Amino acid sequence: MDATSAFHAGSVAGGNDGHITYSSSPPVQTHSILMENIERMSHATARQAAIQAIAAARPNLHRIDFRNEHLKELFGVNVFHEEEQKARLPKAIFKALQKTIKLGVALDPNVADAVASCMKDWAMEHGATHFTHLFQPMTGLTAEKHDSFLSPTGTGGAIAEFSGKELVKGEPDASSFPSGGIRATFEARGYTGWDPTSPAYIRETPNGATLVIPTVFVSWTGEALDKKTPLLRSMEALSNQALRILKLFGNHDAKKVFTTVGPEQEYFLIDKNFVYARPDLLNAGRTVFGAKPPKGQELEDQYFGTIPERVIACMADCEAEMFKLGIPVKTRHNEVAPSQYEIAPIFEDSNLATDHNQLTMDVIRRTAEKYDLVCLLHEKPFAGINGSGKHNNWSMSTDSGENLLNPGDTPHDNAQFLVFCVAVIRAVAKYPELLRVTVASAGNDHRLGANEAPPAIMSIFLGDQLQDVMEQLEAGSLKSTKQGGFMEVGVSVLPKLPKDAGDRNRTSPYAFTGNKFEFRAVGSFFSIAGPNTVLNTIVCESIDYIATKLEADVQVGKSLNKAIQDLLPGILKESKKVVFNGDGYSEDWHEEAEKRGLPNLKNTVDAIPSMITASSIELFGKYKVLTERELQARYTIFCENYVKTVNIEANLMLSIGKTMILAAGLRYQGEVATAVNAAKAAGVDCGAQFEHLQELTGTLTAFQKALRALDQAHGHTAEGTPYDHAKAMRDHTLPKMVELRTHADKLETMVADDLWPLPTYQEMLFLK
Ligand code: ADP
Ligand code: MG
Repeated sequence: MDATSAFHAGSVAGGNDGHITYSSSPPVQTHSILMENIERMSHATARQAAIQAIAAARPNLHRIDFRNEHLKELFGVNVFHEEEQKARLPKAIFKALQKTIKLGVALDPNVADAVASCMKDWAMEHGATHFTHLFQPMTGLTAEKHDSFLSPTGTGGAIAEFSGKELVKGEPDASSFPSGGIRATFEARGYTGWDPTSPAYIRETPNGATLVIPTVFVSWTGEALDKKTPLLRSMEALSNQALRILKLFGNHDAKKVFTTVGPEQEYFLIDKNFVYARPDLLNAGRTVFGAKPPKGQELEDQYFGTIPERVIACMADCEAEMFKLGIPVKTRHNEVAPSQYEIAPIFEDSNLATDHNQLTMDVIRRTAEKYDLVCLLHEKPFAGINGSGKHNNWSMSTDSGENLLNPGDTPHDNAQFLVFCVAVIRAVAKYPELLRVTVASAGNDHRLGANEAPPAIMSIFLGDQLQDVMEQLEAGSLKSTKQGGFMEVGVSVLPKLPKDAGDRNRTSPYAFTGNKFEFRAVGSFFSIAGPNTVLNTIVCESIDYIATKLEADVQVGKSLNKAIQDLLPGILKESKKVVFNGDGYSEDWHEEAEKRGLPNLKNTVDAIPSMITASSIELFGKYKVLTERELQARYTIFCENYVKTVNIEANLMLSIGKTMILAAGLRYQGEVATAVNAAKAAGVDCGAQFEHLQELTGTLTAFQKALRALDQAHGHTAEGTPYDHAKAMRDHTLPKMVELRTHADKLETMVADDLWPLPTYQEMLFLK
């Protein structure tokens, strides 16, 4: 029995220290056996140690007793929400603050002082010792710097202080965040500014709690260095335009229009031991090597399947945490890929939904650790297995909660709905490249167009009912709406099941789903701020266009209805090229889309330049969402992110390739060569073994050549702009990475299992 098979036997028989296997031995021997086991462990590969640890682990799954902790009472306990504000703030202050939050009225400094004082008391009652401004730099993550509430009095004691000034403005020395050239390191000034429309909350951590204040992050010239600032600007811009349409329809009560978002978040949960044994998962969140497992997702036995116990325990824990933070999580289920899951909240205004989605990702990641799991948010952690996205459900709503994309039962006579809906269609038709670029990243490149996510061609699915109404509208006579009726299931005891007027389509990047549009191309790791900033801005432009035409017509005495009937058919004619109800995964669609003149920007490098075209600069400038300089900066950051991501992955491939895979391959080659020589010496026919040695050696040689080629391509420094670097990465480094992987994955299927160092797909995806 060699060291590793003994190790396997020990794990099967007795858990992690081998006691059961050797229980009859006298104590003194137990000690030496223990030492022997430790010795064996140190000979095991990281992969074997990971499996051993998982087999032996019994994580504590019972953290919360929901008979004592009622979710209803947990909701929002850690949030300084409206009710809490009302209970604590002087009446006039509360009213002023609400005006700012709900109607966007600028905040009076005196109000800030009063709010800060109450907020501090509330936070300290909840155990907070520190406060932090939380901002969303261009990394796509959140950033924070904590300050204590305490200040020394100078006479030996300390008092708790928190002024309006500290609430409203912070100045993190944040020179190391990506600024895309807006701010050089010698101009380190960056300011955080309180966003009163996203409530402050308490983050509980072991040994303390922190008051977290959502903020924007800008340079000292006021330029956006973050994702929140343009999102807020775009919401305001859209609101101003949408109110014009509402006024035309006689709605003078609406004070503001919000865009609403419900992001469905997909993620993987993988045992932490595997992640520790895989430098690629640990550092890049994705496996850069790994052969296809014998069983993947082909049985379709995973989607909506029963959720494993450890996972459901973790999910419930996450949800309790999110409830405390006021995140209205609603649904959870197994996703298509093994070990993949989804969580979805009830929609909120897009600013809050964005903050809450960032928090959701953070909570899942932190909570997973308690269950010895790691949450992978990468768009494509496992090649050949479905990746993760984020469905961004989007609509517009008045401050009194009227959903402007609600068609009602008879959309054909709902003129206001038709106006807003046509505005959205026109926006996507006019700016498909901008939508595309908001979902561009090295990670999402592995997913878009890979027959599991929508293609990189931006199109709209309307569904039977709306498609029919739009055709009538274009033809100039709106008569009826197709109705759903009831389904014939053929079982008489069942209650009547109402039928929707149309089926769904999972292959469309932008689908109308009842009373909202669902943007499905967003990657799982993205901040939804970017996609929503673009959605808001392009729709804002369309609404502006339509409002201007309608207002002019009404001014000269046309009836609103007539003006709408005159205007919308032409817009639809121009825009309908973007409407596609068929299978977005099919080859036919690619051809058809090309005929229609729809852009197909296949990867990030193709997509990025759309950010800084003249039309993009004009659009974002016109609505004061992003200046040309801010757009240029974002463009540079997109290029740099792409380069950095591919660079890290190439580095990982080189180091894992050389120190783990090549090493294992050479060891195995040695073993086979020894066996062949021994067989030859014994005088038996060993032709088959010799062939095996040859094939193995051939694959090893090809692998080493590919390693060298990647090393060379990668070591070559590209001249020029950040965009040139991105292009070099795509055109020179990436193909070499793909080549290297094919040889490595072949080796995985040849090298002796006990020598293979990396946890395999089969193990990572199915050991839960
Ligand atoms: P579906 O069956 O289309 O997936 P769900 O009702 O499950 O629809 O909703 C999916 C997501 O869409 C949820 O997060 C939900 O809150 C969100 N959603 C529903 N209505 C709206 C809306 N008006 N605006 C934005 N998001 C919405
Ligand atoms: Mg959905």
